[in-house]
Amino acid sequence: MLRVGLTGGIGSGKTTVARIFESLGIPVYNADTSAKRLMNSDEKLRGEIIKVFGANSYKGTELNRSFLSSEIYNDEKKLDKLNALVHPVVFRDVKSWAEKQTSPYVIEEAAILFESGSNKFQDFIIGVTAPEELRIRRLKKRDGKTEEEIRFYISRQMDEEKKMSLCDVVIQNDERQMLVPQVLAVHKRLLELAKTFSKKDPPSEETSSL
Ligand code: ATP
Repeated sequence: MLRVGLTGGIGSGKTTVARIFESLGIPVYNADTSAKRLMNSDEKLRGEIIKVFGANSYKGTELNRSFLSSEIYNDEKKLDKLNALVHPVVFRDVKSWAEKQTSPYVIEEAAILFESGSNKFQDFIIGVTAPEELRIRRLKKRDGKTEEEIRFYISRQMDEEKKMSLCDVVIQNDERQMLVPQVLAVHKRLLELAKTFSKKDPPSEETSSL
């Protein structure tokens, strides 16, 4: 199965692009939503999070998101610790999800695809980009966050230009160039690639580093 990553900074339009791929019949796994689901449903992960962040990190079996968010908001070391617990569980989950799909290729949508190391498992990576001012405007409208908060989140992600330079193809979501024709061109390329694709050896979980 050809595995395709879809990434971009916050507010770049990953989910918007993912929906177009879904409308073409391509299954999309959202790493962020799945991480939140797994933090609630995976008992072993819950135990590990409680061990590191304390009993307050859950209310019963439900993740105490406001507590955990405040713990990691200004503390990169704690954020790294949380990621080190969550990412391997997501890697396993997306792998077993991908194996069940029957489409020519599957997409994993992740804002921090490179930062998490998930790029190692992808055969092709799509980047979505948009000018920073436009991303800020979108997120203010969508999430009601302040410009300061949004800039802080952007500053914690990999530099946009660097991220896009690591992608195999970049979709421009600047509201000037139309999205659908760009997605259709990538879809065509991926269908061709899927035909010739011979499964490459993914790194084993034991040797992969975060
Ligand atoms: P995040 O990383 O925060 O989840 P994202 O990269 O998935 O964000 P989207 O949720 O797709 O980004 O887009 C952010 C907001 O901008 C959404 O409200 C979306 O509807 C809007 N948006 C994205 N692309 C466009 C576009 N081309 N035209 C108009 N609005 C757009």
